[in-house]
Amino acid sequence: RPIYQNRMGFGAFNSGGKIPLGLKRKGLRIVVTGGAGFVGSHLVDRLIGRGDSVIVVDNFFTGRKENVMHHFGNPRFELIRHDVVEPLLLEVDQIYHLACPASPVHYKHNPTNVVGTLNMLGLAKRVGARFLLTSTSEVYGDPLQHPQVETYWGNVNPIGGSRSYLFSSLPEHNSDGCGVRSCYDEGKRTAETLTMDYHRGAGVEVRIARIFNTYGPRMCIDDGRVVSNFVAQALRKEPLTVYGDGKQTRSFQYVSDLVEGLMRLMEGEHVGPFNLGNPGEFTMLELAQVVQETIDPNAKIEFRPNTEDDPHKRKPDISKAKELLGWEPKVALRKGLPLMVSDFRQRVFGDHKEDGS
Ligand code: NAD
Ligand code: UDP
Ligand code: UDP
Repeated sequence: RPIYQNRMGFGAFNSGGKIPLGLKRKGLRIVVTGGAGFVGSHLVDRLIGRGDSVIVVDNFFTGRKENVMHHFGNPRFELIRHDVVEPLLLEVDQIYHLACPASPVHYKHNPTNVVGTLNMLGLAKRVGARFLLTSTSEVYGDPLQHPQVETYWGNVNPIGGSRSYLFSSLPEHNSDGCGVRSCYDEGKRTAETLTMDYHRGAGVEVRIARIFNTYGPRMCIDDGRVVSNFVAQALRKEPLTVYGDGKQTRSFQYVSDLVEGLMRLMEGEHVGPFNLGNPGEFTMLELAQVVQETIDPNAKIEFRPNTEDDPHKRKPDISKAKELLGWEPKVALRKGLPLMVSDFRQRVFGDHKEDGS
């Protein structure tokens, strides 16, 4: 089973995703599930840029062809419309598993986190590929430890939500949006468990990333996340909707930093889990202020109710990733936010630019 090829492009001499010392790596075959989504499409750009062959598997729940169509016509790029809840047969070296319904509207109908992850682990086992799971800081729930270290087991409400989506842009989902969020948190926790089971039980090479709030170009505009909400609201000259008193905190990471972390994790020797996030912590009111400074100093703030389950604070301890992956984020919020504004401006005002960059 060829995993790494020699410079001539043939012959297998290694397995398990490790790069043999002294050998220049030839392009790998990599699956990115959820590769038409926000994070996935930026990852695909880097992998294609590095010379790998990439197969994107996506059912376009929240992803968009526009995010990857600048690769159409490249023989090293393939796009498959497929729901990972169904089995999939491919021959690949690495699997970045990002497919995940990003909002309750989608995920309450869909067992992607559990069944989709199981299928991709089954695929990894069959072909001997290395598997990377994109887990989430939500596994820590409403954390009782701050900042969060990977050894913390979390504080998740299994029958409720760690926070509610109020769906300013999707009001029809208000009533059933609350309380279904636990299937995201618990789904990712189960995905981590499955990943470790396949590692221990079947010897699959695995990597686990716990991703903290990430923003950047190509983010879904209307899935209710705070950065995309505020940026779209400021551009549309609508008030910025701050939930609760706005004193809850999050730590916001620019997407290029995350992609660098994911690739270092995949290529490195450590299973994880690793927190991948920017430790710069902001209250939602501070975030609103940065959005005002960046887009419109006259943007108004409007307070909306929040729910008890919303995590009060979130900030990654990234010592482990610094030490073992040699990784830390480089782009501060005030630098990163302007980088997503032009993309949002084009999409909000319908001025389509095909590559979404
Ligand atoms: P996204 O919604 O932009 O991307 C998810 C992609 O998965 C979409 O393209 C969607 O169409 C696809 N998808 C969903 N269900 C699928 C299925 N059953 N089969 C095939 N494809 C499917 O979200 P994102 O922000 O890019 O998130 C990527 C990953 O990172 C997710 O696993 C998410 O849980 C994780 N994550 C993201 C953040 C963040 O702040 N963006 C934070 C923590 C974790
Ligand atoms: N699977 C897949 N592609 C593969 C191999 C497996 O989608 O190349 C799916 C398979 O259909 C099953 C899951 O992965 O639902 C787990 O597979 P595994 O072989 O670990 O379990 P088993 O099929 O033996 O229960
Ligand atoms: N939030 C907000 N206004 C919005 C959307 C979200 O104040 O328009 C708050 C939300 O209550 C939460 C924080 O922003 O406290 C982060 O929400 P997001 O959905 O972006 O991420 P998560 O809660 O999953 O970390």
